[in-house]
Amino acid sequence: MTDTTTPQGHVPADLPTRIQHYIGGEFVDSVDGATFDVLDPVSNEVYLQAAAGGAADVDRAVAAARVAFTEGPWPRMLPRERSRILHRVADIVESRDARLAELESFDSGLPITQALGQARRAAENFRFFADLVVAQADDTFKVPGRQINYVNRKPIGVAGLITPWNTPFMLESWKLGPALATGNTVVLKPAEFTPLSASLWAGIFEEAGVPTGVFNLVNGLGEAAGDALVKHPDVPLISFTGESSTGQLIFANAAPFLKGLSMELGGKSPAVVFADADLDAAVDATVFGVFSLNGERCTAGSRILVQRAVYDEFVERYAAQAGRVTVGYPHDPDTEVGALVHPEHFDKVMSYVEIGKGEGRLVAGGGRPEGFPTGNFVAPTVFADVPPTARIFQEEIFGPVVAITPFDTDEEALALANDTRYGLAAYVWTNDLKRAHNFSQAVEAGMVWLNSNNVRDLRTPFGGVKASGLGHEGGYRSVDFYTDQQAVHITLGAVHNPTFGKQEHH
Ligand code: NAD
Repeated sequence: MTDTTTPQGHVPADLPTRIQHYIGGEFVDSVDGATFDVLDPVSNEVYLQAAAGGAADVDRAVAAARVAFTEGPWPRMLPRERSRILHRVADIVESRDARLAELESFDSGLPITQALGQARRAAENFRFFADLVVAQADDTFKVPGRQINYVNRKPIGVAGLITPWNTPFMLESWKLGPALATGNTVVLKPAEFTPLSASLWAGIFEEAGVPTGVFNLVNGLGEAAGDALVKHPDVPLISFTGESSTGQLIFANAAPFLKGLSMELGGKSPAVVFADADLDAAVDATVFGVFSLNGERCTAGSRILVQRAVYDEFVERYAAQAGRVTVGYPHDPDTEVGALVHPEHFDKVMSYVEIGKGEGRLVAGGGRPEGFPTGNFVAPTVFADVPPTARIFQEEIFGPVVAITPFDTDEEALALANDTRYGLAAYVWTNDLKRAHNFSQAVEAGMVWLNSNNVRDLRTPFGGVKASGLGHEGGYRSVDFYTDQQAVHITLGAVHNPTFGKQEHH
């Protein structure tokens, strides 16, 4: 098939029409032959049939991963041997970034330029963790009495990785990178709205030399394939990214097994603009912060709190800039906001737009953008004067919709910022150093960006507090999550005779 581009969209060449699971090095259908439909977010037509996994498919995948863990070479390799292979994974991802971006953009509706950035970030994640496990200093301690204690970091086993539909390939790399670099084997369950790019990992890992059975993939719905993975007794770890309500359910379902859990959940992050801020930068960054990635971004600064002295000016400038954001077809390089992922999600976002009209003052957007009568397109939408009791202030919308609220004092800004069940990110715009630091200390957020947007070094922890998550990903925090840290205590001197407390203990 060749490329087709029409005014309504672009269909990549050789677009798959069917995808399977990948288990023990082979592409396979579901045991019961079940499939589910995947829609193109521009036409909302079914373009792909994906294998719909259930408990029997998860069983097969876990068994393959378990054999690769207990008998295969992967967990036994030196970190630098695994590292070499994972660098090859990164090389392959980089060499195919344009194709990956094209498929991801088609499947998820993300603007192509942003999908390309995410594909490159996925390669970076692999390089980073490949290097990190090699660079990690051994924890070895000398103890008086000619003893040595050391920490034996061991891979844990089969890691279950459950991922969402926003920036799917990149978020998968965030879990696959550290899980594999530390020597675990995995079963990935990608989101059902966007399963296309996940199946590309199979070929990439094979080509890079990752041994058979180390990477397994089961497609399917959350309540079937995801649920079976969470409840599988041979899966000691679950790394989950998704909605807070799903996280609560997984927490409960994993409890009887006492599984290791990492949870990156929802957000409703405040962006606080003080009157002394550089207003040009603050407007520009907060527009980008909520409308990039179609607003389908967990760290979106979707509640903007603005100090009264600059409030009217900020709202006016913000609305004008939001009105200039280019909504377009995902494949168009000029597009800044593409199509939302799925009609169900589109309906949810549009319902919040309608709710917002009764809760705040609409100053930009408010429905479909002109020229897009079909498909999941939403105009960048801005509500001002939104009270903290409003649903659009409290609830995660996960689309191109923002609420702006005025405040007077620092105390009020902090109270408004913290007036949410979530605690993922916070953004602060001020030129007063003390105020910036005081605010960071007191705000309930896992990550704070001061006069800055979402730029993040991969060594820093990523994660939220309150309903936004449990634990952190990033750098050594990921290495800790994916390894058992066994303490080993050795005597190097003469054989030790216990003396019932008459000798010195440490
Ligand atoms: P979701 O919770 O609906 O689904 C996420 C994944 O969980 C999917 O693969 C789904 O199939 C699976 N799932 C659903 N029910 C399950 C169950 N009962 N058992 C096991 N698995 C199940 O989330 P979504 O709509 O795909 O993603 C959007 C959400 O993800 C937003 O809330 C967003 O904020 C959050 N998110 C958070 C971060 C972060 O790092 N904190 C990053 C990206 C997205």
